[in-house]
Formats: sequence, structure tokens, C-alpha cells
Amino acid sequence: MKTVRKTTSRCHKCAKEVEGAIVISEGRAYIHRECPEHGVYQYLLSEHGEDYADLDRFYAEVYETASPGRKMHTWITSTTQCQQKCPYCTTDCARDEDEILWEDMNWDDLQEVLHTFERGKLSFSGGEPTLHPNMLEFFREAEKRGVSVQLATNGLKMASKEYCQKLKDSHVKEVRLSLESVTKPDAAKLGLEMHVETKLQAIQNLCDAGISVLLSPTIFKGVNEEQLYHIIEYAKDKPGIHALSVEGFSWNGSGVRMPAEMMIAPDEMMDTIFRHYCKGRRCDLFAIQKLAYAIMNVAGFDLCLKSEFMVFLRRAGNLHPLTDFIHAGRLGWMLDLWRKVIPKQRWIRGLLLLPVLASGVTFRTLPLLPVLLRLVLANRKKLDVHLYPSELLVVALNTNCSTLNADSIVIPHCISSFIFKRDGVVIHQEGVAPVLLDKEEENCRSGFWQRMQDHKWQGPESCKKD
Ligand SMILES: [Zn+2]
Repeated sequence: MKTVRKTTSRCHKCAKEVEGAIVISEGRAYIHRECPEHGVYQYLLSEHGEDYADLDRFYAEVYETASPGRKMHTWITSTTQCQQKCPYCTTDCARDEDEILWEDMNWDDLQEVLHTFERGKLSFSGGEPTLHPNMLEFFREAEKRGVSVQLATNGLKMASKEYCQKLKDSHVKEVRLSLESVTKPDAAKLGLEMHVETKLQAIQNLCDAGISVLLSPTIFKGVNEEQLYHIIEYAKDKPGIHALSVEGFSWNGSGVRMPAEMMIAPDEMMDTIFRHYCKGRRCDLFAIQKLAYAIMNVAGFDLCLKSEFMVFLRRAGNLHPLTDFIHAGRLGWMLDLWRKVIPKQRWIRGLLLLPVLASGVTFRTLPLLPVLLRLVLANRKKLDVHLYPSELLVVALNTNCSTLNADSIVIPHCISSFIFKRDGVVIHQEGVAPVLLDKEEENCRSGFWQRMQDHKWQGPESCKKD
């Protein structure tokens, strides 16, 4: 076992803060930690040990030079009502009503959010946000104020064309729709088979209405892994689907009642993409991840090591990965040069990144440049997914933090912040999920507390005692 870097993590049983490390063992990369009482726990990060270790080092080097940047994405937990109540929801709406810890936000709360929101992207979320009585009003008000908002929904209501028209009329431009499977047998494994047809109809209706669709599947190891491929294939012929934001199941929220073995890291999901779409070397995909971390860092945004990216070009009924169009080997080599200097001043870092970018360009990239430039511009301030060029399909592979993959070096650079209401107070929490479990034991197991404490890594009292 070889140590890549040391970090602090949490015990998988008692959630106490323990020494941890990113390690390589038998060619694989893990986050390893050892509790004096409960022993060793290793969470698989990648099958490609050395390459992943290099990516990890790159990330640590780039982000250590920078204080935490801006959050790109702010989630509003508007309501905890939901028709679907998935057993793995991070918002944990699945429990009985009197056990739910959040309150629905009222119109005054929501207006206040819009008045004070500065930059980045808002996701109007839940629970199921279409069940919130002020949802349409919120989007109309956001439009007036020039705030970019996305509707994060299960999509069930959008099976009605009239409802989609209502969304369109209220300036809903982007819908993030959860879809775990495009086929019934895989959906059935998650108890969601009754929603498949409704959701596919909803996606069609949204595309017809000209509302940009971002599909957001949750992938479970050994359950619906191949759906990642099937969903990408489904999106291939629907240019109205601009992006996929894939969530690897993480052991938090309602999910702590499901087997932790179903967790899957972004790099494992990337293997599926590689297997189906890429002709080159697997290590070339790491150059793309490095580039994404470098660009976001230079742009002053946070980016989590628990996210990986791929961009596809739709052409003649096929999807072509970005690696077909760039010289990834040269790009990776130049990024390794860039990392050796990384100056503190952001603008110099940015300037030095220009020759790096140029090194990846080949004659095949040239016709793509205007499209990629449009993608960069759409992401520049407000992550405007609805402005993504329809020739592209952008795929982000993410996972949330839980006790089992906790890494204190990475957590402060979470891309998200959360707005939710509890005990009559609207709370804006930077970089941590708005998830609290009411049972201390569950708090310990899931480690939500660590993220609720604004990175101070304080466990609940009962965790400290044992
Ligand atoms: Zn322990």
C-alpha cells in the first residue's frame, strides 16, 4: 500500500474524526482510514491507481494555492413534499411527516432569497418543488431580477403538455429531471418502474416546449450502472437535452438505509463512458479532468474532486467524446508543466494556462472551437445550461460526501451551497448538504454533522463520548 497524500476522514462506524489517506493498493486508488476502535475502512476511488493518484495530487496542488472560491450552485429546499419519496434521496423526504426536519419556505422567504442572491446558479429544489404553491411566481420574479434558476424536479407533472406550457410562460428555462432508468426492469430494482413512461413523456414535452433539459440520474453500483450508457444513448437524439448531471449513489440522506456497497465513485462511472465511447487511452481522460480543475480554479470557482467531466459532440447520429478532437497527451503533458509553477496570482495562473490550452488543439479541434467557446460563455457567470450549444452533450459525473468518502482536503471546495428552513429560520449553508438526521446514532453513521458544522469537523456529542 502506497500513500498518495494524507488527509482527515471519518470512521465508518462511529463517525469520529480519524487520520486518513489516499492510497494505492493493488493498482487501485482508495480513501483509507483507520479508527482505533472500529478498524480499517477503504472506499474505492478508482480502478486506475497511478493515474488517479496523479489527478489527486494535481487537484491538491492547484487548490492548496487558492483559498476557497465562489460556489457555483445554490440549492433551495423549498418544500419536503414529494410524490416519489425515493429511498436514496439526499434530502431525506422519505420519512414520516412529523419526523421531517425542514419546513417549507414561504413566499416571503423565497423573495428574500432572490433579493439577496448575488451570483452563480440557483436550483429551485425540494422535495418536489412543483408542489410548492409559489413555484411559478418564483421563476417570474427571478426573471425580473436576472437571476438564473433551474427547476430540479422528478418531472412527473411535466407529463402534461399544458403544464410544460405554463412553465414556459413563467420563464422556466432549465429543468433538472431525475431519471434513474429509461427501462422498466432497472427502474423496478429501485421501486420506480411506475414512473418510467411518465418521465419519458415529460422529457419529450419539455423538449417540444423548448425548455432545456438536464437529466440527473443516480447510479448504483451493481444495480443500474449500465443505465448510464442507456441514458446517454437516449439523450443522443434529443438535442433539447443539454447535459447530464450524474450522481453516484452516496451513503447519506435516506440512503443510509441502503447498502453502502452500492456507492460508486465518479471515476468508476467514467469507466462506463470510456468502454462505450472512447478509442484512445484511458489515461487521456485524466487530462480532461485536470483541465477542468485548472480552468475553474483560474475562474475563481470551487470545484470538487468528486466530480469528473466529459463533453460529447453530436454528429451524424453518433456521439463523439471530446478526446477524439484534442491532443489529450500533449495537453496532459503541458498541464504537468503548468502545475510546477502555479503562481499565487490568479491572473498569471490564467495567462499561463493559455499555452496549455493551445497545446491541446489539433486540426480536428478547429471546427469545434466556436462551439466550445459558446459552452465556456454559457458557464461563465450563471451556469446557463439552456444556453449550451445543442451540438454538445455535457456529462458531469458526481458524488456527494458521506462518512464513507469524507476527505477534509476536498470538502471545503464543494461547488454547492444550500438554503433551507429549520425552526423558523432560513439558513444559508456553504458547501454542505441541508441534511440533518434526527437520530444521533444515524448522525454518527452518516456523518451529516461534520458537514453541518461548516467544516469545523465537530461530531455530535454521543460520537465524542464513545
Ligand atoms: Zn470508529
